[in-house]
Amino acid sequence: MSSDDEINLLVIVVDVNPVFWGQQAQRDPEFTLSKCLDAIMVFGNSHMAMSRTHKLAVIASHCQDSHFLYPNKSWKSGDNGEDEASSCGDGKYELLSVANKHMVEEIKNVMSKITAEVSGNSNDTLLAGSLAKALCYINRVSKEVEVGQETKSRILVIKAAEDCARQYMNFMNVIFAAQKQNTLIDACVLDSDSGLLQQACDITGGLYLKIPQKVALAQYLLWVFLPDSEQRSKLMLPQPTHVDYRAACFCHRNLIEIGYVCSVCLSIFCNFSPICTTCETAFKIQLPQMVKPKKKKLK
Ligand SMILES: [Zn+2]
Ligand SMILES: [Zn+2]
Repeated sequence: MSSDDEINLLVIVVDVNPVFWGQQAQRDPEFTLSKCLDAIMVFGNSHMAMSRTHKLAVIASHCQDSHFLYPNKSWKSGDNGEDEASSCGDGKYELLSVANKHMVEEIKNVMSKITAEVSGNSNDTLLAGSLAKALCYINRVSKEVEVGQETKSRILVIKAAEDCARQYMNFMNVIFAAQKQNTLIDACVLDSDSGLLQQACDITGGLYLKIPQKVALAQYLLWVFLPDSEQRSKLMLPQPTHVDYRAACFCHRNLIEIGYVCSVCLSIFCNFSPICTTCETAFKIQLPQMVKPKKKKLK
């Protein structure tokens, strides 16, 4: 099988957490969400322009929902695609210019809905859910290809807000599902390091990079994340970082280094409990004070 026939699907999951981006715009007006999306579009266009078998999907992940920016149901029906394609006269490839226009429209929709609804009780980005959505999409695309055609897919996470330990379990499940599907997870981290994504990249064979300069996002995306796994072996890429392999306890969702593990279901706890709260196994533990002295008085 030649690599030309292979479908190469890239799913970009971008963290559009409104709290993070609101603060970021105040801290550094040079790099806002719209600048970030510009960089992602340049990157997505470069990916699609490389070969006709290269496919792209972009998912926006925020604190209430995850949303497909591209491809999107609202324009797949094709009622407005053609006029817009012919209306741009700058010589840009129509597919890219239509895709970019719709991404801009969709992100506007998403952000306007968030600001109307955000209640302040949860600022965590639902990254695990978005990754699950990405895996479902990859699975669907790989089922829809012609017989004999193969799909190679990867996910790139553009991570902005901080990790949420409450998502630990969902996140790990997604990572192992990705590993089973042979889907690479790459992470481009804009702000604070993410232990969950470090594990995701390490387990699936992807690349984890916390970029030193946010304004240079487009450059890092093009130089580091555009080449696929085969091409990467020939490049001198940033060295892998130390992976934070701490697990979150199932009782409080705290990250712990040493804990108690249920021997039946492998749930992790920070405190000892005689009954596992996940699988309800009761542990028979012989504690010294519980052992009754039995005096056998035979004879
Ligand atoms: Zn705990
Ligand atoms: Zn258990």
